[in-house]
Amino acid sequence: MKNYELKLPDNYREAFVVDATDKKLAVTLNVVNLIIAAAVILISWLLIRPQNLMESLSLSDYLIFLGCLLCYLVLHELVHGAAYKLLTRQKLTFGLTLSVAYCGVPDIYVYRRASMISLLAPFCVFTVVFGAAVFLMPTPQEQFCAAILLALHWGGCVGDLYDTYLYLTRFRSPLTLMRDTGPKQTFYLPQES
Ligand SMILES: [Zn+2]
Repeated sequence: MKNYELKLPDNYREAFVVDATDKKLAVTLNVVNLIIAAAVILISWLLIRPQNLMESLSLSDYLIFLGCLLCYLVLHELVHGAAYKLLTRQKLTFGLTLSVAYCGVPDIYVYRRASMISLLAPFCVFTVVFGAAVFLMPTPQEQFCAAILLALHWGGCVGDLYDTYLYLTRFRSPLTLMRDTGPKQTFYLPQES
């Protein structure tokens, strides 16, 4: 099974566009992002019950937390990029706007299986990393900080999860192609008959 096409085959037609630079979609995704993150932080607080959180964290703890968050933002996109690179060996594009950081592979059309692997790679990798950190941190306060990173990660994956949702509902055909420029994903299907 091929992972991608260099040119859109003649019988394919555009079926759906997800454009994160579209204001309405950007606002919706960011609101859902905040709701997911807030819910996970609240549930973690109730489960871990970190006592005297503010007093028990030092300045270096805050700096480490911020450093982890910044590294995560970059690594999330690099994991998308690594998956795309392994599966397609094509030129990647990276970028940052006010509402999204992105990685795309703009010159080709990627089949559903390879596309889903690239979409979900950061979600899976960092769910394991931050999930493990929640359990391995020595104090409840540090466990809660790791849980905040997990919460921000899950919220931040909302765009990737939306594309995955589309693959699981509307675009279940393995023949589905996607062009991913980074902030914008276009789904293509072969025309019937
Ligand atoms: Zn992503």
